[in-house]
Amino acid sequence: MANFYDDNHDLQFYVDRGIDWEPLVELTEYGYRTADGFKNRDEAVEFYREVLRTVGKFTAEEIAPVAAAIDHEGLQLVDGEVVFPPAMVRIFEQIQGLELHGLSVPRELGGSNAPLLVQMMAAEVMGRGDVSVMAHHSFHGGIAMAMLFYSVFEGTTEVDRVKGEIVRTRWQAEIAEIVRGEAWGCMDITEPNAGSDMAALRTKAEQDEAGNWYLTGQKIFITSGNGKYHFVVARTEKAQPGDDAFAGLKGLSMFLVKAYEDQPDGTRVRYATVERLEDKMGHKGSPTAAIAFDRSPAQLVGKRGEGFKLMLLLMNNARIGVGMESIGLCEEAYRMAKAYAEERPSMGKTIDRHEMIADYLDEMASDLQGMRALAIYACYFEEMARRSEIMGKLVAEPGSPEATRLARQEKEYAARSRRLTPLLKYITSEKAVAMSRMCVQIHGGVGYTKEYGAERLMRDAPVMTIYEGTSQIQALMAMKDNLLGVMKAPQEFVKKVAQARWRAMSAADPLERRVARLQTLEHQAIQHLLRKTAADKLGKLRGKPVMSWTAEFFQHWDPKRDFAYAMLHAERLTQIICDVVIVELLLQQARDHADRRDVLERYLERAEPRCRALLDRITSTGDRLIAELRAREAQDTASAAQ
Ligand SMILES: Cc1cc2nc3c(=O)[nH]c(=O)nc-3n(C[C@H](O)[C@H](O)[C@H](O)COP(=O)(O)OP(=O)(O)OC[C@H]3O[C@@H](n4cnc5c(N)ncnc54)[C@H](O)[C@@H]3O)c2cc1C
Repeated sequence: MANFYDDNHDLQFYVDRGIDWEPLVELTEYGYRTADGFKNRDEAVEFYREVLRTVGKFTAEEIAPVAAAIDHEGLQLVDGEVVFPPAMVRIFEQIQGLELHGLSVPRELGGSNAPLLVQMMAAEVMGRGDVSVMAHHSFHGGIAMAMLFYSVFEGTTEVDRVKGEIVRTRWQAEIAEIVRGEAWGCMDITEPNAGSDMAALRTKAEQDEAGNWYLTGQKIFITSGNGKYHFVVARTEKAQPGDDAFAGLKGLSMFLVKAYEDQPDGTRVRYATVERLEDKMGHKGSPTAAIAFDRSPAQLVGKRGEGFKLMLLLMNNARIGVGMESIGLCEEAYRMAKAYAEERPSMGKTIDRHEMIADYLDEMASDLQGMRALAIYACYFEEMARRSEIMGKLVAEPGSPEATRLARQEKEYAARSRRLTPLLKYITSEKAVAMSRMCVQIHGGVGYTKEYGAERLMRDAPVMTIYEGTSQIQALMAMKDNLLGVMKAPQEFVKKVAQARWRAMSAADPLERRVARLQTLEHQAIQHLLRKTAADKLGKLRGKPVMSWTAEFFQHWDPKRDFAYAMLHAERLTQIICDVVIVELLLQQARDHADRRDVLERYLERAEPRCRALLDRITSTGDRLIAELRAREAQDTASAAQ
């Protein structure tokens, strides 16, 4: 019998050996102190494995077989309500029966209390069956957990410190409703003139004399936007004259809007309207809606002006979710392509034996393992950070050594998560596009038809590089984090460079030497971009040690202009950093598990020439284009002055 978990040995590696479950299970189980919780790590992990097996079987037997039908039938908007295709309705009835909506919701709120990591692995498995089912499903448990997390953040969740259980939380009834599968939610940020540029958001929040909030405005592209509970980012504070773009972000607040209420007589009263469903190239089972708010009653989440910060808290999980979705699609693209290539004869042998096709398949397999390592650790670090924070704030005695330890742990894991998350979103979504295209290519003519489903993957993939922050925005974040990190602590960077050089020559393990050589390529790219960034205004720094740059760098700093060269190469730098981070993670695995050395070796074989080529492009291109852009800017300024 087909099972998308049982047939995935790389994913099983993480559950069985690759993940350090002990600290995560201990946090998830509140230190094993609740009466109805697991009493040790092994009991808990066995449950997680069972959940993944269930999702694997359900996806292989129920979701994958109807993916083409969902794609074909699509969604309709009838009298202001979205009508799902019958196959999708049946799938969600089954998900409800399997109680998967509350998988990571705490037991005391009606859920199964599994770590988010398990939820995310299940998302990968489900995404392999159909990404639109996976996406819509994630707006159930994901929104329930956002409600809980926001309530903890604003201090409206109460915990019994002895039992370690939640006694009450602000949106308890709403969470229970979602866990039962009777409602779901969504995240409303984008507007017609504000996508990547959130500072341009215009949806307005107003308060009446009694203190009640009302929202007015339009949001577009809202996934699962026909849901009941909308987290909406809206403007509460006016930007002051002369403010920079970030003042726009400071004026945003977060609200929860109940979009409708069902009445006892079966009618529905709407407070926010579904104006339109987008007619998309793919993701046909996942509703993407334009939503109108017209003095819609709203609840303020957190404090006024915290909207951007609260959005970012949720965004990290959402990006990991897109990473898992992308990997699920890549896994399907790889398996579909491999199965076809092993059957299809051409010129005396099956096409998987032809060198170029074998090379494609080999690269896809290796990329998948690298991306999965990045995804699992990104999710683990993020969850450890968030759970340490929650345990530290709500369960540990204030001021106790335990509270101090948890606060330190939160900081360490948050820094690691922050580094990995934009990389994960960037590389997995870009690879989803590339691998779905390879899958079509390997199928030849039938790849261009609907017969095998390869073309569906190619239509489903491109949105992953767009939503939850485009690839370019992820690359800018990764580039800025890295370059500013070096500029703020140049001594650390110098130390890292020296260590990598030393290990590249002297490490006993040849694989460690190769990893260190790749790290030196990353360092060269960063140094080059910093030099170019500095060159315009600080030409005199050329040849001086990096240690002396900081003070001069930050004088008269104009990020837009001064980072131009680095912004031009941000995607290339991000690609290098992705490869470096992946080989670092795989090296750690190879040290602990000898059978993973082969995974690292194969990945390095691809990553080394790739990074050399990227470094070449970073160091040898860009001057002409930057000069042209500056000339155009100068022209615009001159025209405006006339
Ligand atoms: C199917 C789908 C589902 C979605 N779901 C949701 C949802 O649930 N909630 C929600 O709020 N939104 C959602 N979105 C919206 C999505 O997040 C935005 O489309 C995305 O943020 C990009 O914004 P935009 O479309 O306005 O493009 P723009 O911001 O106009 O960008 C256009 C292009 O310019 C690039 N660009 C922009 N600024 C820069 C820069 N400074 N440097 C370099 N390049 C830049 C972008 O990377 C992109 O390539 C969804 C979109 C789609 C298609």
